[in-house]
Formats: sequence, C-alpha cells, structure tokens
Amino acid sequence: MTSNRRIVLASRPSGAVRPDNFRLETVDLPPLADGQLLVRNLWLSLDPYMRGRMNEGRSYAPAQPLGETMVGGTAGTVVESRHPGFKAGDQVVGYLGWQEYGVSDGSGLYAVDTAHIALPAYLGAVGMPGVTAWIGLNRIIEPRAGETIVVSAAAGAVGGVAGQLARLAGCRTVGIAGGREKCDYVVRELRFDACIDYKSEDVGQALKAAAPQGVDGCFENVGGAILDAVLPRMKPFGRIALCGLIAGYNGEPIPIVNPTWLLVSRLKLQGFIVSDHMDLWPQALRALGTQVAGGQIRYRETIAHGLENAAEAFIGLLAGRNLGKQLVRLG
Ligand code: NDP
Repeated sequence: MTSNRRIVLASRPSGAVRPDNFRLETVDLPPLADGQLLVRNLWLSLDPYMRGRMNEGRSYAPAQPLGETMVGGTAGTVVESRHPGFKAGDQVVGYLGWQEYGVSDGSGLYAVDTAHIALPAYLGAVGMPGVTAWIGLNRIIEPRAGETIVVSAAAGAVGGVAGQLARLAGCRTVGIAGGREKCDYVVRELRFDACIDYKSEDVGQALKAAAPQGVDGCFENVGGAILDAVLPRMKPFGRIALCGLIAGYNGEPIPIVNPTWLLVSRLKLQGFIVSDHMDLWPQALRALGTQVAGGQIRYRETIAHGLENAAEAFIGLLAGRNLGKQLVRLG
C-alpha cells in the first residue's frame, strides 16, 4: 500500500490567503482497479486561478470543495499501470492536484516527450499558461507586424510567453511588471523592447514614452489601476485580451473600466478562458513546443521544494514573489 501526502482546502479565505486555509494530510492509497494507473507527481503547478476556486460563488468553474485535495496541474512518472494507454515509466502531465501520488483513470492525462523539452515546462510555456498566451494573443489580439503590444504581469508564466509570441510576430512589445529585477529579466532575457516597473513608475506616463504612437493590443493579466492606465493609450480599434484580473483576486476592489475609452477609441475588449478553447490546444502546444525546443521562447521557473512548502509558495505567487512559472518540486 502506498502512503500519500496531500494538501486539502481546510477553510475558505476571506481576503488574503493564509497558510491555515490548507491542511497537509497523509492517507493510504487503495490498490489499483482495472483501467487505473498510479502516478508519482514530481512537479506541481501553482496558478492564480486556484485563488478563485477557493471562493464560493458564481464563476466559470465550480468552487474547490472543502476537505478535498487542492486542484492543480501536475507532471510526474507512472509507477504502476492497469490502464492500456499507459505503462510504468511514462512521463505524464495532468490535473492530479496538490499531492505526491495520484490515481487516475487516464482522463485528462497525457504522456509527454522529454527528449527536447524538460518535464516541468509542460506545466508552463508548453502547458496551460503557454496555451493561454497563444490563444489570447492569436485569437483575440490578432497581432500584425509593426504593431505595439502591451503585456501586464510580463515576468510571469503567461505574460512572458505572450510578449515573446508578439515579438516573434514582428510587434514592438512593452511589458509591465513589479520591480526592477523583473523588468530587467523581461527586457534582457525575454527580449521585450521595454518594460515598465509599475511599482516605481507612473504607468500612464511611462507608456507615453515607451509607446509614443499608442498601443494596438493589450494582453491584460492584472486589471485595476494597470488596465486603467493602459486604456487611454490604446489606439483606435485596439484589441484587449482580458486574461486575468489578479489585482482583485484577494478581494481588493477593482476600479470599473471607464467605458468611455471603449467607445471613443472603438476598442475590442474580450475576456477568455483557456479551457473554452480545447480545439486550439493541439495547434498551440505544437507551436509552443517547437519554439521552446528551438530557443525562440525562453522561460524561467521559481521552484519551491516539498509539498509542505506549497501553501507558502502559492501565497508568494499572489504577492508577486515568483519570477516566471511557479512550481513545487515534489519528492
Ligand atoms: P504569474 O506567473 O504572472 O504570477 C502572478 C503575477 O501577477 C505575480 O508574479 C505578480 O507579478 C502579478 N501580480 C500579483 N498581484 C498583483 C497586483 N495586485 N497587481 C499587479 N500585479 C500583480 O501568473 P500566471 O502567468 O500564471 O497568470 C497570469 C494571469 O493570467 C493571472 O491573472 C491569471 O489568473 C491569468 N490566467 C488566465 C487564464 C485564462 O484562461 N483566462 C489561464 C491562466 C492564467 P508582478 O510582481 O509583476 O506584479
């Protein structure tokens, strides 16, 4: 019998997430039934959407139930299989949650090739965050060479890929990120043309300098004061892909977008959820895999070690302590 450590949602946060909203448990895993496989999770993905799942109330996905293993993307190795589609030793990616082992019937799980792409990248640039960037950029912003694209949370998992895809499409790219170190990374390593440190600069003024002709496309991950500062800089017929509103995930009030700019500048503002576009995932993953393996898309990871440090790492992600993709290394 395998002993499994897992983290469950112990209580719903009001405001900022606290470590005691989670509980670490040890449970025994039952023997596998026919059609099941046992996966040892080696990597856990921490993502901002998990904060929304911790709340009750209307959203695009059901709330995380109390007392159950926290939802989450995982990458690991098949230990034992009674499923015809998988064998011991396969490297697999899926949604087995915040736990060291997962029993699966194979749904939502897929084997990956780690010859040219490292396993954890399938949780980042070649996984859900990368696909989010690809869809928001290519299906909503639809960039054309020579245009200027602004990306907020640009040093993060989604924003970093979105900006690089825009640059590869021939656009001028301006990132927005918190702090000098993150901005240096965005410009030097991710090769954005400019990056605005919203913690020390006036975003509106800095955008005037970085994009004097205005902004054609905005990949919005933050909302609040940052989106407010970008709107007046949008060119007529500009497009905004509303990907996330992390400025408000802990319950902070988010200023309401002034619709005057939408009308006066005839803007398109479209929210999207990556899981609504499953038909595009294969195409996006193929493109991202090629670009990551070829070095055209770069990424970094912030890695916490051990399941017992997952909660702190998640709290850090919401506070902006990550650079690039936030992961937990298990085992
Ligand atoms: P990141 O790796 O970008 O990490 C989150 C970052 O958000 C932090 O590092 C921090 O960067 C920034 N941040 C946190 N709080 C604030 C704040 N109050 N104001 C400004 N910035 C803040 O996360 P992801 O790349 O995984 O996700 C980015 C966004 O994309 C999120 O909003 C997420 O919800 C959204 N998303 C949406 C999906 C969809 O289907 N629509 C799918 C996946 C993600 P900094 O230090 O620069 O402030």
